[in-house]
Amino acid sequence: MSDQIRVSILGATGSVGQSALDVVASEPETYKVAAVTANQNVQALAEAAVYARAETAVIADPERYEDLKDALSGSDVAAAAGPEAICDAAAQDADRVVSAIVGAAGLNATLAAVKRGATVALANKESLVCSGPLMIEEARASGAQLLPIDSEHSAIFQVMDRPERVEKLVLTASGGPFLSASMAQMAAATPEQACAHPNWSMGAKISVDSATMMNKGLELIEAVYLFETPADRIDVLVHPQSIIHSLVSYDDGSVLAQLGAPDMRTPISYALAWPKRMRLPGVERLDLAKIARLDFEDPDEDRFPALKLARRAVEAGPWGPAVLNAANEVAVDAFLQKHIGFLAIAGMVQDVLDQFGAGERGDITDPESFEQVFDLDRRARDAARSLLQQAA
Ligand code: NAD
Ligand code: MG
Repeated sequence: MSDQIRVSILGATGSVGQSALDVVASEPETYKVAAVTANQNVQALAEAAVYARAETAVIADPERYEDLKDALSGSDVAAAAGPEAICDAAAQDADRVVSAIVGAAGLNATLAAVKRGATVALANKESLVCSGPLMIEEARASGAQLLPIDSEHSAIFQVMDRPERVEKLVLTASGGPFLSASMAQMAAATPEQACAHPNWSMGAKISVDSATMMNKGLELIEAVYLFETPADRIDVLVHPQSIIHSLVSYDDGSVLAQLGAPDMRTPISYALAWPKRMRLPGVERLDLAKIARLDFEDPDEDRFPALKLARRAVEAGPWGPAVLNAANEVAVDAFLQKHIGFLAIAGMVQDVLDQFGAGERGDITDPESFEQVFDLDRRARDAARSLLQQAA
């Protein structure tokens, strides 16, 4: 059927991936799943593939190819394995490629889809953060389109009717689990506490990013590149209920916002069906009278220095976000493994940015190729790891 939408889902076993599968399953007449991919969890991938009646399932770990084949035996799903097979799946023909791998690990696959000229439903903000201008340029060259899945960017995209009249973008932030925590409480925070988000259920990495508010920092950078808007025209507004997903302020005084229950299926569905909208019976409808009030406050950049760091990084030029992201990934991982405390995450990101910004690692220049992005990412991870060793 020609009006069917063929969808591939990279990172199908993750939080966004599972929500994407849910959206697709709610409209079996509309969607057809081409490929699904995952990192290591063969069982979860096989279940996702069979559930979605996917054509192909790809596991990143090449050692797990046989296990995947076994798990898929008796089904019509083809098996493949290895990082190149993930890129092949990303590049294969599909109307939408959901990029929902976590971290810079998603860069290669996202790039493969962009190079093919795909319409990419982008959740993997880190890939855009570390390669922004190059990725946008690549998309322009191939005709690829980047449609945001991140709820804030989806909100902006949904209400951005006249880009030339925009004065400001306003990203809302829940403030995460430590919105009203003291510095002492944050210093003692455990991974379990950091991952207990009040409004959203998400993967571990983005949950910690939400707790430090680095997630909002990464989203600020994502918005700079996606909407080609300088950082000084993007505000962050704390809104603990996560009902208003973001706002666009126009030069006639109008402010347009998108509201909804905090449920990732709404922005995922928008990115899959755009320019159409699709009915989502399973998503809770807003009852504003019941909610009764919405609260707002300015972010506290002293308790949440990650926001300042992200601003500083993006203003330094494209090298800044690449370094910030790599250092943050190493620091979040170390925190999840209980090697460092919660407040040390932003501390480490700042130290690595300082090292690169102060030129201790040679003359820092903006990456001019994806090779240089990967190189910068490696060097920033090395710098963060040696800080970890010094601290141990
Ligand atoms: P998650 O940890 O739940 O899932 C990550 C997925 O990526 C899994 O399917 C995993 O198998 C796969 N993966 C991990 N490492 C990989 C590798 N090296 N190679 C191939 N596949 C790999 O993460 P998530 O919460 O779903 O987040 C995914 C992305 O979406 C992140 O970039 C996050 O910032 C973004 N995002 C998430 C949410 C949310 O609600 N969870 C909201 C907005 C944006
Ligand atoms: Mg978001």
